[in-house]
Amino acid sequence: MSPSLSILASWVNSPGLNWRQVTLSLTTAKFIFMSYMNIRQLSVLLRDKPPKSLEAAFTQDAYDKSREYSLDKIKCSIAINIWLYCENLVYIKFNVYLQLWRASVYASSVLPVLLAAIELLTHNLMILPFMYYRDFYLEEKHGFNNSTFSQWLKNKLKGYSVQLVLRSLLVAGTLKVVELAGDLFIWYTWLFISMFIVVVGTLYPYLIMPLFYKSKPLSPGKLKDSIDRLAHKNKFPLTNVNVIDGSKTSSHSNAFFTGFPWSKHIFLYDTMVDKFEVEETTAVLAHEIGHWKLNHVLISTVFEQCQLLLILSAFSLFYNNPYLYSSFGFDYTPVYVKFLIFCYILTPMNCALQFMSNVLSRKHEYEADAYVVSLDYEEHLVAALIKLDKDNGGALDSHWLYSAYHRSHPLLNERLQAIRQVPRKKK
Ligand SMILES: [Zn+2]
Repeated sequence: MSPSLSILASWVNSPGLNWRQVTLSLTTAKFIFMSYMNIRQLSVLLRDKPPKSLEAAFTQDAYDKSREYSLDKIKCSIAINIWLYCENLVYIKFNVYLQLWRASVYASSVLPVLLAAIELLTHNLMILPFMYYRDFYLEEKHGFNNSTFSQWLKNKLKGYSVQLVLRSLLVAGTLKVVELAGDLFIWYTWLFISMFIVVVGTLYPYLIMPLFYKSKPLSPGKLKDSIDRLAHKNKFPLTNVNVIDGSKTSSHSNAFFTGFPWSKHIFLYDTMVDKFEVEETTAVLAHEIGHWKLNHVLISTVFEQCQLLLILSAFSLFYNNPYLYSSFGFDYTPVYVKFLIFCYILTPMNCALQFMSNVLSRKHEYEADAYVVSLDYEEHLVAALIKLDKDNGGALDSHWLYSAYHRSHPLLNERLQAIRQVPRKKK
């Protein structure tokens, strides 16, 4: 540990602090902060007129429809926030980590992984009714859902299983690294987790996405030609364009690309292929190519790595803090439990990092939109963004603080205003 970190560690390693009280206070402060943002957002959504700049694109009827969807979702977020707060209170008040640890002691060789699994399963099961209300009932109520309840439940359970496998691999791998690395554990853990994230992210469309969606290559035709021309013009190393059967579960639309630096794969939802004009889909992909051209993927990855390193450095401060863990009933504390308890202390830093990553992401969105304008797709991008917002039920208005914390993308009216202000090339 560096000398400055050692000084900080000895400062937090003080017997005078009541750590259980500290974690309770931080959890309560976060709950109040989230509630404040939710209520401010609710009050914005009660406005019955669309923002001025969207009056031409949205009829009062379309605005009301979108507003009701956002209102239902924010009410659900308020309920989830209360529920998660209660869950955290129960965990802290009743030493649930200690109970779970004792329950998993019977399978000693896989203890931490088992603990991670129990913790994840308990949380997922408790939150399932809220997920049903938000992701099935509300989607159905507002006309976005195309799946049956049994399909939805099957997909949810599949999602939980994938989460369980990935978390178990991550926990088992990280603990092995911590055990082998000794004092240098921050650096090696950082390296391991970074590699894990990059590998899972790259393999996601090939290993995980096929569990939920079927994809097939885009058939030759106008759209394929238009995408090929766009990729060629921008020297984008496009290997193939795939269409995903997203319409099977929902009418929401999306498009993204993935792959290695030398070979990229574009994925389009069939909902987009069916409903969007060729030029509109091309404009959406031009935006994605803009992210690639302007190195946004690389910049975001470096930013995430710095975040991870910061979190691990903070963890090292509390790693040998006996007062923190004993306040939760532990005399010997396994590394994984140390990390779970540390997450309570991490709350303020996590909130700050969330604001910062949204600032970066929004900046990238504006830049990628400006890139599309430079390719002369402005009108098609505007049309596509309006359609995407209608298809996805995006909020048309938002409180600034709620937006800053929750939204990685600017609102539709903010994007349209920014697009109009992009300096045009002289022809
Ligand atoms: Zn984007």
